[in-house]
Amino acid sequence: MLKKASGRDDDSGADWAQTMRGQLASAVAAARAAARLPAYRRAFRAAGVEAAAISADTWGSLPFLTKDDLIRGAQDNPPFGDRLGVARGDLAHVFAAPGPIYMPYTAGDMAHVAGSFARAMRSCGLEPGDLVDQTTMYNWVIAATVIDRALGMIGCGVVPGGIGQSERHLEVIRHLGVDAIVAFPTFLEHLLDRAEAEGRPLGLKKAVVMGELSHPDTKRRLHDTYGLEAREFYGVSDVGAVAWECTHGAGMHLRDDLLVEFIAPGGTTPVDPSPETPAELVVTDFHRKAMPIIRLRTGDMIDGLIRSPCACGSHAPRFTRIAGRAGEITKVKGMFVVPRLVGDVFLRHGIDRRYRLVVDRTEGGRDALTLEIEGAPLADAAGVQAGVEAALRMKLDMAFVDTLPEQGLRLLDRRNEGRPA
Ligand SMILES: [Zn+2]
Repeated sequence: MLKKASGRDDDSGADWAQTMRGQLASAVAAARAAARLPAYRRAFRAAGVEAAAISADTWGSLPFLTKDDLIRGAQDNPPFGDRLGVARGDLAHVFAAPGPIYMPYTAGDMAHVAGSFARAMRSCGLEPGDLVDQTTMYNWVIAATVIDRALGMIGCGVVPGGIGQSERHLEVIRHLGVDAIVAFPTFLEHLLDRAEAEGRPLGLKKAVVMGELSHPDTKRRLHDTYGLEAREFYGVSDVGAVAWECTHGAGMHLRDDLLVEFIAPGGTTPVDPSPETPAELVVTDFHRKAMPIIRLRTGDMIDGLIRSPCACGSHAPRFTRIAGRAGEITKVKGMFVVPRLVGDVFLRHGIDRRYRLVVDRTEGGRDALTLEIEGAPLADAAGVQAGVEAALRMKLDMAFVDTLPEQGLRLLDRRNEGRPA
């Protein structure tokens, strides 16, 4: 028998459809196992699916898991909402998320989640030997614990700076000659701008950012202004890294060992994400043992998926950004309205103000859309209005208001107010 010179298959022949069939098979096995747990058994039964009947064909009839389900579960059946999948003695970590939700992990779960972060950050350009300032939170939540471990898996040196304390971060980055940083984009920009204002730029070369709705222009600005190569990944707190950029920076590749579904906003049917039909990401983690995660609604929406192979050789589809939160995208006059498109127009006009879109129903039963902008009327109000109408492909009214809520949603839907629920 002849031995081939190279028996190793590379990724070039793999196709994503085949990967997805494998993901679905693993998800089915995980859901069947989860059906042993009272909370999942109740939810599946309520949806008319018995454990033995869970298959690739019936997958779409399994109920979704929401953040509300987790919170209510933790309140009604504390502390783990009848979802603990292992003996208490097998827990390696329990994180306390706001809500309060307690998220348990076995040692194996932690290794797997850390592995996903390591893949994400390696793909984003971190290498063995990089000294990295880790700026996410170390207490209570999973973020820093698992990212710290992932950096170690890559072979990076970690400076465990944690959240806040900008001055201290600036000082330590300068003293140590830190190469790279893991940060939320707004914190990173804050640090860089502050260093620039002090006239003492930082020597950072790479940044890995996540967790906020970052704008593509942000990465360009960081590169042009600070010579900093910023790459992004998208993570879900209960699952880990879900999609990440490669060094080509042409969108975030979906992770291949999770099932990610694309579901109509507020609905239950699968959709192909596009600007006309944005989709919510729904994730099933078939590795988690301590608390299985089956069809978790992330609330994060995408408005497109790039399926052509990437220059890096990966066939995993990519999306370029999170287009918004599920509660922020709605149908008006039969069209989906994505508030962040307003932000894009503002950016082009150099406007930095709070805004919100308000949907009302007129007495004639028609939808009416108003863009509320905080502050005095803009000099170029007509131009901005035309830009927003073109972006949303919809006519609207514009109103200037004294104040808007600091943390509020950018979409307020008042169409059902005053009606019986
Ligand atoms: Zn790529």
